Amino acid sequence: MATDALIGVLALQGDVVEHIAALQRTGARATAVKTPADLARVAALVVPGGESTTVMKLLDRFRLSRPIVERTRAGMPLWGTCMGMIVAAHAVVDLDQPTLDLIDITVRRNAFGRQNESAELDLEIPALGPAPYPAVFIRAPWIERMGPEVELLAERDGHGVMVREANVLATSFHPELTGDPRVHAYFLDMVERYTRQGKVLGAA
Ligand code: GLN
Repeated sequence: MATDALIGVLALQGDVVEHIAALQRTGARATAVKTPADLARVAALVVPGGESTTVMKLLDRFRLSRPIVERTRAGMPLWGTCMGMIVAAHAVVDLDQPTLDLIDITVRRNAFGRQNESAELDLEIPALGPAPYPAVFIRAPWIERMGPEVELLAERDGHGVMVREANVLATSFHPELTGDPRVHAYFLDMVERYTRQGKVLGAA
């Protein structure tokens, strides 16, 4: 399902360019979001991989935390990859910083251990079809607890690594770094559905 909605990629730090390119390859319009005015123009937001402790400070400094939380609670589709999953989580084990609390999961950072700091694995993701998905993990978080409304879409070593709760999607891995467009297409389907339901405020 195609969408003509404008998709934002949070551009404070992290792999922004790769996400914009992957969204464009999947047929979407995409733009960097650095300010509240940028955010107001987009219909959906991707929070990319990066360093969560840095980005959570920058979100406050750039006055983006509050509008992101307000828009997402009002139905704007949001997808967090890796660091983005940490930032969107309800809670983070051993982290003394508030998160945006947009999806009812508790995550552990850098969870797969040193020998697994970086890995590419074939994941079973039934929601994307029968072919395994090549998932790139880089110092990735895993999910330790999921609320009852959270749908588990994929796991690795018995821990959730792709989940969705209503308009919020989170992946531990980096779909922007592989050529397989299916996770981006899945998110664009969500955007199309929420845009059509008229739930997205400020849609371009
Ligand atoms: N380990 C990073 C963090 O805790 C996330 C890594 C990533 O986004 N690739 O923020």
